[in-house]
Amino acid sequence: MNTAMHEQNSILDALKTMLGTDRVSIGSSDRELHSRDQSAHLACLPDLVVWPDSTDQVSRVAAYANEHGIPLTGWGMGSSLEGNPIPVCGGIVVDFSHLNRIMEIYAEDFQARVQPGMLYKDMNLVLAKYGLFFAPDPGANASIGGMVANNAAGTRTVKYGATRDNVLALEVVLASGEVVRTGSRSVKQSAGYDLTHLFIGSEGTLGLITEATLRLAPVPEQVSAAIATFPSTQAAAQAVFEIMGASLGPAALELVDTSAIVALNRAEHFDLAEAPYLFLEFHGASEASLADELRMLQVICNEMGCQTYKAGLGREARAHLWQARHRLAEILIRSHPSQIYVITDVAVPISKYPALVSEAKQALQGLSIMDTYIWGHAGDGNMHVMLFFDDTPEQHTLVEHFTDQLVEHAIGLGGTCTGEHGIGIGKRKHMQHEHGQAAVQVMQHIKQMLDPRGILNPGKILP
Ligand SMILES: Cc1cc2nc3c(=O)[nH]c(=O)nc-3n(C[C@H](O)[C@H](O)[C@H](O)COP(=O)(O)OP(=O)(O)OC[C@H]3O[C@@H](n4cnc5c(N)ncnc54)[C@H](O)[C@@H]3O)c2cc1C
Repeated sequence: MNTAMHEQNSILDALKTMLGTDRVSIGSSDRELHSRDQSAHLACLPDLVVWPDSTDQVSRVAAYANEHGIPLTGWGMGSSLEGNPIPVCGGIVVDFSHLNRIMEIYAEDFQARVQPGMLYKDMNLVLAKYGLFFAPDPGANASIGGMVANNAAGTRTVKYGATRDNVLALEVVLASGEVVRTGSRSVKQSAGYDLTHLFIGSEGTLGLITEATLRLAPVPEQVSAAIATFPSTQAAAQAVFEIMGASLGPAALELVDTSAIVALNRAEHFDLAEAPYLFLEFHGASEASLADELRMLQVICNEMGCQTYKAGLGREARAHLWQARHRLAEILIRSHPSQIYVITDVAVPISKYPALVSEAKQALQGLSIMDTYIWGHAGDGNMHVMLFFDDTPEQHTLVEHFTDQLVEHAIGLGGTCTGEHGIGIGKRKHMQHEHGQAAVQVMQHIKQMLDPRGILNPGKILP
């Protein structure tokens, strides 16, 4: 037996004693399943996977890993797009899927306390019975722990905020195994350093989240939706700026470029006009107020040269009008079965959105060998470019070059290298440019203080 095997066996024995034999695995399929996310980053096998079922077990695993200097990486659903949960240094992956309960619903306060392995779509099905929902919506059925760790956002962020804006308190296991509670159930909080928001978006590099108290929203009484086409992507992007400036308050405002519409029509016969689209949704207390908003919206769209405009009141109309947008990523992925993909993620102040889209379109002209699609949570100034390519070093280099250019441009416009997908592996090299050396050093000090042995999700976020 070699030393590595001997070590793995002794770690295995220790973890089995802590968690029970069925909650630890060194099986190749379990390790394989926890080696890659949904990004094009290289897979890395962990040495072991564990499924704790209590905070105490997470704490004991952390203390053991810390004592022995073993890398420890949290795992939700593995739906990240920047390599965030890939265990690049091996070690132990902590899969939170068994910590998946709603601990308490405080319906009268619009709050819920949940475990990290709870999937947000499943949670919203339960919350619907109380007339409530958790608004951040990343599309994939992500776990609450993964959403908090990545500060996930999505189509409804323009009205309800990102995950960061909807978390009041956390329970976190530190690298040492110590358990800390941050925040409170008060919506207003001003008591000292904001540790809750330090852990949100830290991608499991500062602590493992074992519980979150979430802020919920009432399910809207009435909804409406509209879709509009424009003569150019630039005109659609300009319309986004005008709509936001008119304080219409959409609950979602998405841009989808022509190439994506063409692909949707080809794959599923949506029969959509082949032009850049805006998809909008509004939430309100009465049909009358929503009808007013739709009227104002139509006026603005017409002023911006809109070519077609369809709108409707009610959930059925919304589902019908939004069908293409809701199924966009799934259909595009299915239409390119033999290729891999990257979904870039940059965000800028809303006034710079048209410039960002225009830059992306121009840069894509140099990538005509690939199928590329632009869409985004336009109301937040957040844009994605999805690129499908062959898994060759040459094409990886082309995609990386395009992404780097786009990030530089977004930062130059006062924006960020990521609006919602996080830094993971892919965006580490942009941290210094975006934040400056002094700010990155502060982050390094924080990391050093909370995780001196560097065991928590090593190789992520910090350059
Ligand atoms: C088709 C598609 C569309 C998407 N659209 C969006 C979108 O619109 N908006 C958006 O924001 N994202 C989007 N995503 C990305 C992804 O769904 C989100 O980043 C999501 O938050 C990841 O959650 P997860 O449960 O899969 O976490 P994972 O990918 O498993 O993990 C995410 C990070 O959290 C850490 N982690 C997991 N659990 C814990 C824990 N309990 N404690 C500490 N750290 C932990 C991991 O180590 C990792 O760093 C999309 C992904 C796909 C595949």
